[in-house]
Amino acid sequence: MSQRAIEIIERARREGRKVLLEPEAKTICSFYNVPVTVFDVAKSSEEAVEKAKRIGFPVVMKIISPDIIHKSDVGGVFVNVKNEEEVITTYNKIVENVKQAVPKARIYGILIQEMAPQGVETIVGGIRDPQFGPTIMFGLGGIFVEILKDVSFRIAPVDKDEALEMIQEIKGYPILQGYRGYYKADIGSLVDIIMKVSNMLMDLPISQLDLNPVFVYEEGKGAKVIDARVVLE
Ligand code: ADP
Ligand code: MG
Repeated sequence: MSQRAIEIIERARREGRKVLLEPEAKTICSFYNVPVTVFDVAKSSEEAVEKAKRIGFPVVMKIISPDIIHKSDVGGVFVNVKNEEEVITTYNKIVENVKQAVPKARIYGILIQEMAPQGVETIVGGIRDPQFGPTIMFGLGGIFVEILKDVSFRIAPVDKDEALEMIQEIKGYPILQGYRGYYKADIGSLVDIIMKVSNMLMDLPISQLDLNPVFVYEEGKGAKVIDARVVLE
């Protein structure tokens, strides 16, 4: 599995890229059995229609560009695209938005994805710390990470017990336990993703990996990586 991942990494390097595109990062995740949204790449609006039909409506459409880090900041993400006609208008809209926001951006295509049901937003990340080596991070998404810095860290390799501790020690843990109207989240699937991210950082020349957001569903219903970003060493 890591050989196929290395091929993707080598190709990016040959193209002079240090950051993997979302489809590349998600493909590597899938080699490690990390659950990601179903996705496909379209290079024209006709192709986008074909791929959206194959994936099934509604779909999500996103810009694929090595020059854009935060896709939604440039009008490069549209969710709930409901039919063929909307796929075509959305395709053109994304290209137009991106050209306006970042005129020199290289556009590699448009990513078509299944629209995942909303889950509780979490983040699983990894960095290669100069002192400690591969280090794994877990947190709840949105304001919990951005404002409250409610995250936990462990040095890789992270085993099952440590992954569970990482989840249990964040302040927001009650949210995952079904506090006040939240459902009881599938913590086992988060443990699994944390361990697999740890494996990825141990195996591959990655300096930073962000799975943000990872939607976690009700117990028994798993979790899904919605966005993935990988920075190479
Ligand atoms: P950005 O580069 O802006 O971080 P994301 O891929 O994270 O782009 O998309 C922005 C937001 O759109 C996500 O946080 C999520 O709420 C929503 N989203 C993106 N992809 C999907 C999807 N496949 N299914 C459901 N919601 C999605
Ligand atoms: Mg994101």
